[in-house]
Amino acid sequence: MKASIIAVGTELLFGQTVNTNAAYLSDKLNHMGFDVMYHFVVGDNPKRLKEKLAEAFSDTDIVLLTGGLGPTQDDLTKEMVAEYFGVEMYEDKRVLEDLVEFFRKRGGRMAENNLKQAFLPAGCTPLYNASGTAPGFALSKNGKTAICFPGPPREMKWLFEHGAEEYLSELTEKKMYYRVIRTIGIGESDLEMLLMPLIDGQTDPTIATYAKEGECTLRVASQRDSAEEAEAAVNEMISRISGIAGEYIYSLDDEELSEVVVRLLKEGSMTISAAESCTGGAFASIITSVAGASEVFKSSYVTYSDEAKTELGVDRDIIAGSGAVSAETAEAMAEALFKRTGAEICLSVTGYAGPEAEPGHDVGEAYIGYMYKGKIGHTRLSTSRIDREWNRNYFKLRMLRTAYMLLRGQDIQ
Ligand code: ATP
Ligand code: MG
Repeated sequence: MKASIIAVGTELLFGQTVNTNAAYLSDKLNHMGFDVMYHFVVGDNPKRLKEKLAEAFSDTDIVLLTGGLGPTQDDLTKEMVAEYFGVEMYEDKRVLEDLVEFFRKRGGRMAENNLKQAFLPAGCTPLYNASGTAPGFALSKNGKTAICFPGPPREMKWLFEHGAEEYLSELTEKKMYYRVIRTIGIGESDLEMLLMPLIDGQTDPTIATYAKEGECTLRVASQRDSAEEAEAAVNEMISRISGIAGEYIYSLDDEELSEVVVRLLKEGSMTISAAESCTGGAFASIITSVAGASEVFKSSYVTYSDEAKTELGVDRDIIAGSGAVSAETAEAMAEALFKRTGAEICLSVTGYAGPEAEPGHDVGEAYIGYMYKGKIGHTRLSTSRIDREWNRNYFKLRMLRTAYMLLRGQDIQ
């Protein structure tokens, strides 16, 4: 099957941006067995874009487009593709909801022109974008397929690997299979370095890494003549990855860390409780978001103020002597919590989420205390970030990780 690529953006013609998107997509298409016939580059000009679209489709069945999907007036790729296929635009409810949520989380007001991003050509398969705001889409009609991606390379890649690749694989004889592995405790670049012997020069299965809020995800994908062959190739690669990075892997099946922790607690017939300061209940919230958490989660305390910590059972002198944000207070919270709840795993957290910290301390400094099997301990965190929400989320994840490591009998770091 023949394919071509159209990169849209005047900055590409000015030489300000190198057209790396075309190189990436060409490489992917070639590996999938498509014949790439043309690369076009067009400025942000609707007339010329439409002409190139017609030219590309005159000789190829599949056209991948990147750029010009954003909210601004000169972003016209979607409209030109809809016009070429002779379809109207419709407002996609999910994109609209995602946009509203995105701006609500950022705390900013959404500029009116952002609503434009919720409009997609009728009959398309939307490619929802968790790595940015502009969605992509795939549209097939009369044997011709257009797939549109946003310009930023990170978003383009994300959408290719989360939707577009599968869509394209349906168009070929080849069968695709992939699995997603979750890791925690290692950064994306360190993980990539560790797996370099496997990633380097590897064309199938492919291994892609993604960083996600303190975690790192690996996607292992293969495309072969049969589904069985692809599955076998992926599984073989996964066992090689486990051999190298096994200590960081917490799920081989794309589970959330909270799900894994709840599952392990159930398997061990154990319960968990938390005493939370700077996370304000976020840990309790994430544990109870897992179906069936009632079997393992009894109660949790939000002990935000010093008084609340002493009411829980922390000695006033410990707080006065070591400070509310200290290893001593974190451990005392975990111990007091155990006396109250008797849960097998008692976790506490106290820290500076930001944007400010007490003199002599850094924002992003926190202590997670634990009591497990009669042993009390703590781990110190230091994020060097001032973003309050980011820190709170990270502390919560590290509490989950602490629970996970205790359950797996690993040393707490
Ligand atoms: P946005 O939502 O960011 O507006 P968009 O789809 O409108 O997305 P563009 O405005 O065309 O995308 O491009 C955004 C940025 O992505 C550009 O500034 C450029 O740095 C990068 N980019 C665009 N096209 C390419 C390309 N073909 N290769 C590499 N980088 C690109
Ligand atoms: Mg743009």
